[in-house]
Amino acid sequence: MAEKCTFKRGIHIPENKERTTGKAAELVPLPKQVVIPVNQHFGAPNKPLVAAGDAVKRGQKIADAAAPGPMTVPVHASIAGIVKKIEPRLQSNNTEGLCVVIEADESVSGDDFMTPLDPFTCSKDEALSRIREAGIVGMGGAGFPSHIKLNPPAHLKIDYIIADGAECEAYLTTDEAAIRAKSAAIIKGLAIIMKITGVNTAIIGIEDNKEALAPLLEQAVADGKYPGTISVRICKTQYPQGGEKLLIRALTGREVPSGGLPADSGCIVQNIGSLIAITEAFTLGRPLIKRGLTVSGGACGNPRNIVAPIGTILTELPADYFNIDYSRLAKVIFGGPMMGSAVPHAGIPVQKNTSGVNFLTAKETYSEPEEYCIRCGRCVRYCSARLFPVLMNSALEAGDLDEAQKAGLMDCFECGACAYNCPARIRLTQRFRIGKFNLRTHLAAKQALAAAKADAVKDQEALKK
Ligand code: SF4
Ligand code: SF4
Repeated sequence: MAEKCTFKRGIHIPENKERTTGKAAELVPLPKQVVIPVNQHFGAPNKPLVAAGDAVKRGQKIADAAAPGPMTVPVHASIAGIVKKIEPRLQSNNTEGLCVVIEADESVSGDDFMTPLDPFTCSKDEALSRIREAGIVGMGGAGFPSHIKLNPPAHLKIDYIIADGAECEAYLTTDEAAIRAKSAAIIKGLAIIMKITGVNTAIIGIEDNKEALAPLLEQAVADGKYPGTISVRICKTQYPQGGEKLLIRALTGREVPSGGLPADSGCIVQNIGSLIAITEAFTLGRPLIKRGLTVSGGACGNPRNIVAPIGTILTELPADYFNIDYSRLAKVIFGGPMMGSAVPHAGIPVQKNTSGVNFLTAKETYSEPEEYCIRCGRCVRYCSARLFPVLMNSALEAGDLDEAQKAGLMDCFECGACAYNCPARIRLTQRFRIGKFNLRTHLAAKQALAAAKADAVKDQEALKK
């Protein structure tokens, strides 16, 4: 049996995966309309390339970079139809963003995919360009552009490609369903990345609650006969095992430095969905226009793993498809309950990074009021990033962003383990999420001020000459 890997300070949460475990992902009925956010990536903004009234084919590019720059990825039509409007809509991160609304129309036919491309004979630049043009981003988190992740600065030596199949969040079983159905595409995606990066070693990390799937992946490795070494490692089921930095620590023993990225420790991490999307961008020429996700929770009468076009609004599918019991529904969460976003209603589109939507009852969530911090230190004990949540929180309460940064705010990956264990039920994760946003803004303003001062000094010196 493979050695089990783990990390320190993790927690055990109720998994609540049993209602969808083992269920194959089904393609949802074709939505009557999709609402596609123009910006679904971490980086510079996009602008729409279409206008109301335009007919669009499935796979057609509908938004791309507003200005030249590497940190952008395009967005594509996920169904064929007519653009009805382009307007701001609420997105799963609880902000309003520009969306292209496409109504399905049978008179528009055909797909607008790219020509298939052999990833093993094309150049590195062609391969990276294909991944960008396919609109591929990290499908498990903030939507970091994959073509940037796969092209780290030349001074960083990458030794490991890691496939994140931990799926440690409660309720979610979409990666598990993908491993069952598409193990060959996952392994091919790894082989493509190994070719692009020139790395010889890849490791797939899965938690031991999915150990039965390891032979499927191992068989796909044997069948693929790709160069290099691809192995499957079993990790203990422990939250938040799927956090990039923790998975790296568990699988390689390496540490990602504070403020650094996985590449700083010689690793590149990709999630299961992104690997499949990369494979399909080459073999089918298909951009990222649909994704797998789990729809579950106690108020969901028909929990299932699904594949949905990007932009699908789940509540617009036939009512019996999920059978939501609105009388028991207390909270809708995009993603899992630990790291996902609670949203005010379910009429929000599925995005490239939506791994699940959970319809939770009052019993499955907590709404008790916060109490005062009793300085018990439990949040510190359970933080696997080795931060000081209590200090970060008190600095944020005092409005001292610099102090919060010193306490490690930017290294917080919002896993929720501190809040889960806080006896005072302080909404630590929410505070840190907002605090990180404010700190980024604060640092950008500081940088702009410093640049303006430097310019002023230069101007004064020029005047003296
Ligand atoms: S766990 Fe909660 S109550 Fe205890 S120190 Fe941390 S913030 Fe305070
Ligand atoms: S401080 Fe951040 S990383 Fe640490 S337990 Fe809390 S949410 Fe997780």
